[in-house]
Amino acid sequence: MFNDDAYFRFGNLIGYRDSFTDTALTNEKLVTLLQQAMRSINLILVCFDDKDRLTYANSKAFEMFNVTSSEELEKEFLAWIDPYSQKLEYSNWCQAHESLEGERVYDIICQKLYTSEHKLRNSIYIIDDCIPSSKNKAGIRYRQMHDPLTGLLNREGFYHVVEEYRKLHKNDTEPHYLIITNIRDFKLVNQMMGDKVGDSILKTSGRIIRSLMYADDIYGRLYADKFAIFVSEKNFDKTMYRNMVALVRSQITSDKHSLRLQAGIYKMNSLSDDVNTMCDKAMIALKSIISEEPVAYTFYDPVMMEKAMMEKTVVTQFDKALKNGEFRIYLQPQMNQREELIGCEALVRWKKDDNTVIPPNAFIPVLEKSNLISRLDVYVWELAAIKLREWRHTEFRDLYISVNISPRDMEFMDVYEVITGLVTKYEIDPTKLHLEITETVIMRNPATVSDLIMRLKEAGFIVEIDDFGSGYSSLNMLKDIKADVVKIDMGFLRKSANEDRSRIILDSVIYMAKRLGMGTVTEGVETMKQLEVLSSMGCDVYQGYLFSKPLPVMDFEKKYCDIYKSVEII
Ligand code: C2E
Ligand code: CA
Ligand code: CA
Repeated sequence: MFNDDAYFRFGNLIGYRDSFTDTALTNEKLVTLLQQAMRSINLILVCFDDKDRLTYANSKAFEMFNVTSSEELEKEFLAWIDPYSQKLEYSNWCQAHESLEGERVYDIICQKLYTSEHKLRNSIYIIDDCIPSSKNKAGIRYRQMHDPLTGLLNREGFYHVVEEYRKLHKNDTEPHYLIITNIRDFKLVNQMMGDKVGDSILKTSGRIIRSLMYADDIYGRLYADKFAIFVSEKNFDKTMYRNMVALVRSQITSDKHSLRLQAGIYKMNSLSDDVNTMCDKAMIALKSIISEEPVAYTFYDPVMMEKAMMEKTVVTQFDKALKNGEFRIYLQPQMNQREELIGCEALVRWKKDDNTVIPPNAFIPVLEKSNLISRLDVYVWELAAIKLREWRHTEFRDLYISVNISPRDMEFMDVYEVITGLVTKYEIDPTKLHLEITETVIMRNPATVSDLIMRLKEAGFIVEIDDFGSGYSSLNMLKDIKADVVKIDMGFLRKSANEDRSRIILDSVIYMAKRLGMGTVTEGVETMKQLEVLSSMGCDVYQGYLFSKPLPVMDFEKKYCDIYKSVEII
């Protein structure tokens, strides 16, 4: 199908049908007329036969490619012309061409002519030279579809070309892949090395992708460091991709920055998903990667979509839930060696309107990822502070409440200011508020965290290293971090083939903490046997299902008020 514009140009060139019926116009005259038209016309004309052999080109075509022979022109032209559009029956697109004078954008119409038996006879290219490229329609369209930095298709262009492909191949049964690549922590590279280094990394990546793709692959840069590739199964060569990724990585990694590359891959057996959905699925696969390996990739799995939807729900409902008071604290008791209640840990739960209670593991990691966790933590700390104030004149007055500090809290607030602010506001004793900082956060940023811990200790808080032994703990850390308590991860208590060895390590950690003047809490104590073992090792405090699961505050108060029956209440 011609569009009006193309019909006008093409019609002008070959003469309208009326002209052929004009008795005054002999064939000879017509040929001369056409020859003149082709010479003088301001368009570039190139014609191929069904075997992709050049059959005609006007002088403008030779000028454009700066060649003199038909062989050269044929070679140059076929190397330049967009292979994807070339295959279409009729198409109109924009493409840039580098010449000695620089880059120019061309508006191209390709018309295929068929014999009456529907066999391809000719492909005619009508190319409009667009100068100045940024001002005219084709130039603007080219820019809308291309990324100026890498010269690849941009998001709009990529979406457009994949959708065109989909229309053309809708009955294909061959699988296809949509791959989105990501450079891990690219934002940091920009921040630390400057935008210029960032840009050059992207350009290099784009160049390598372009040089390694097959002619009919579709690829582009969606945004920032996200490149997208759409390929059919026959072109999906895993080894080639592995090499490509390795090559990109070797090119963009230097002694100053070591980058990690990741890819999310969506494999589809039909082309029923639109490009937007394909990209969403590849992105979901990409986001699910937790591996810290230099190069990592994951295939999309429908379970990921469910998880992503769940995460989305958490993020969208969070604000309202916080305002509605749907987040509650549950308290889990902590006992001393004489099995007396001395305090508790506040553990958050999300209690929805319909009374379903969601455990923290289902939403805390999502809130951490979406930078919302600090708002929840401040809320939980405040609930704990309010409870401590309430308890000041009750049988629970000597109990402490231990709260969790998320590794990400430090990025979003001045933890010291917020916590000391709460103590002042609710007039509570800071020693009654224990603060659990996980081992991993300390390891990531020892200097800053060490300073924060010192200041919190000076202000009277009890600081605990949470989950000790769960990550890649360094004993060296204990040398610099002067926390009050080591809270030992329950992983040590789980049954395993290496139980004897775990026990030796546990014993040594407790011994070492003691020698360093630190208290010890072990969490996850489930059996009397475990309690006895820990007790023989000298552990100070125990928390676990043996005593109680985390309880709603009212249930906790009900359960433990009996213990204090004999205690005189002030
Ligand atoms: P955590 O701080 O290590 O908390 C201990 C977790 O172990 C709790 O899970 C608790 O219910 C569970 N637990 C206690 N005793 C036993 C036991 O004997 N056996 C077993 N198998 N498990 C036991 P929970 O409440 O589901 O919390 C999970 C994690 O969520 C917490 O681990 C903590 O990292 C996080 N979390 C909970 N509340 C908050 C909060 O207010 N803020 C932040 N940032 N994180 C929180
Ligand atoms: Ca904890
Ligand atoms: Ca813990």
